[in-house]
Amino acid sequence: MLGLLLTAAHLLAATQGAPPQIITHGARTRKWVVLSFDACETRKPAGYDAKIIDILTRTNTPATLFLGGHWMETHPSQTRALAANPLFELGDHSYLHPHMTKITTAQIDDDLRKTQAVHRQLTGREATLFRPPYGEYNATVLKEAARFGMQSVTWEVVTGDPDKHVQARDITRAVLRQTKPGSIVIMHVNGRGWHTAEALPAVIAGLKKKGYTFARLSETLK
Ligand SMILES: [Zn+2]
Repeated sequence: MLGLLLTAAHLLAATQGAPPQIITHGARTRKWVVLSFDACETRKPAGYDAKIIDILTRTNTPATLFLGGHWMETHPSQTRALAANPLFELGDHSYLHPHMTKITTAQIDDDLRKTQAVHRQLTGREATLFRPPYGEYNATVLKEAARFGMQSVTWEVVTGDPDKHVQARDITRAVLRQTKPGSIVIMHVNGRGWHTAEALPAVIAGLKKKGYTFARLSETLK
């Protein structure tokens, strides 16, 4: 009986595939790096750091942006413009930035569904990448994100840019020191990456000098 149960469970697992895993970096096979920017918004309004997008556009630097559902609702024109720019890949970053490991599965579903709906409404497509708020996840979060068609992604290189005391030179130094082939760098585009725009030209130039090219995350996962 136990054997039968195990076999049934095994078959079920096999048909469903392996449980989804978190992504912390892209393929190490090339000297490429993923610059990622979060646009988080809780109930408290957040902003849009247009300077960052200007620098990325001017330097022709691809990037991956994780947009909050509520953020997209309060920034519809910016969301549409980002979606129309082939340099950028857009993932979801939850609707209201909850601690996903502390809410129920039904609440996770509700949050992800709402975010995908806003994403679809504004850009005509749904996200395939999901960055859990605060980088907090567990097996349920990964599974629910997968149910909504998304692979969950955290990061490898922390810039610390949400801290006002982290200066532009600290951000640049952190990125240049920690980046390895395939690294995902996390920064913020919601106006709370205090010195991010100031650091970005040196970050891009420094990585280029080290021989890195820039890629959108999904390109590095193939
Ligand atoms: Zn966030």
